[in-house]
Amino acid sequence: MTLADISRHCYELTQAYLGAQNASSIVQETQEAIRETRAIILTEVFSRWSPLNGEISFSYNGGKDCQVLLLLYLGCLWEFFALQVSRSQYAAAYQRFPLQNLFSVYIDLAETFPSLETFVDETAARYELSLYSSRREHGAQASDMAAAFSDFLERYPETQAILIGVRATDPFGETLKPVQKTDKGWPDFYRVQPLLHWRLAHVWSFLLYSGEPVCGLYEHGFTSIGSVDTTLPNPHLRGLGETAPQHKFQWEVEHSYGIAGSGINARPLDPSDVSWLAALGEDKYLPGWYLTDDSVERAGRIKRK
Ligand code: ATP
Repeated sequence: MTLADISRHCYELTQAYLGAQNASSIVQETQEAIRETRAIILTEVFSRWSPLNGEISFSYNGGKDCQVLLLLYLGCLWEFFALQVSRSQYAAAYQRFPLQNLFSVYIDLAETFPSLETFVDETAARYELSLYSSRREHGAQASDMAAAFSDFLERYPETQAILIGVRATDPFGETLKPVQKTDKGWPDFYRVQPLLHWRLAHVWSFLLYSGEPVCGLYEHGFTSIGSVDTTLPNPHLRGLGETAPQHKFQWEVEHSYGIAGSGINARPLDPSDVSWLAALGEDKYLPGWYLTDDSVERAGRIKRK
């Protein structure tokens, strides 16, 4: 697929989700959350910076939140292009989607789960990301997040704004704004955070409906993924085994876009992560989407060393 193809796909899947009627209250809330996010991107962000000339980049680490934001952003990119075509004096047949890749930044600061690394690579190819990776490009690990972003900006000085999939329920998230300058001590750019109002249930509802590949760690009890040293499956999903209730996203899975009825498109785990999980001695975790309580989303983010 080209960036044009995947952007169009994301636009169509978003419209299909927005068009769903008589669905659950979670779907209705998520439709509202999507409208708000799209309004921020299409009116606030695209009126300030052009999505077509490298001013806007995307921070991507394969996590569920940035993947949701990426799907919505690509859909908005298609809409922006379609609007330009409709206003142009030239026939649509002569207009080509003007971008081949989306500039993106992945800061690989600490030891990462191999399944997540593979997922980042696979999805960078699927979504046509031109992915700057702090570790792979420099051999050594960047000393901290701010330094890694500085390095990214030196290489891509046209960057004005970076999209970030942070939510208000994340640590320090409650005081953030959808568009704001970076703090003192950080390299200078605008943080664009159009998912602040999203709750955990909204993320799963849209992601499971999308039919897009999902990082396999989520299927094994992870609900938020940090480094190998700081992340375990979420203890709130442990030991429920076969007595588990159904999750709340049956409608999304049954109607999922493009793969309706085929189940959830979770990617297989890397063998080394399978061994790592087996060594924990507890393999009876429910998938991450069984958890919808935002207050314990990060209960598996534990310092172990
Ligand atoms: P999850 O919480 O399930 O791991 P996530 O990684 O998308 O999902 P957070 O960990 O809360 O969400 O991070 C918030 C956002 O910050 C991400 O969506 C992403 O945009 C950005 N981000 C976080 N870590 C990195 C990183 N190492 N490289 C690039 N962007 C990052």
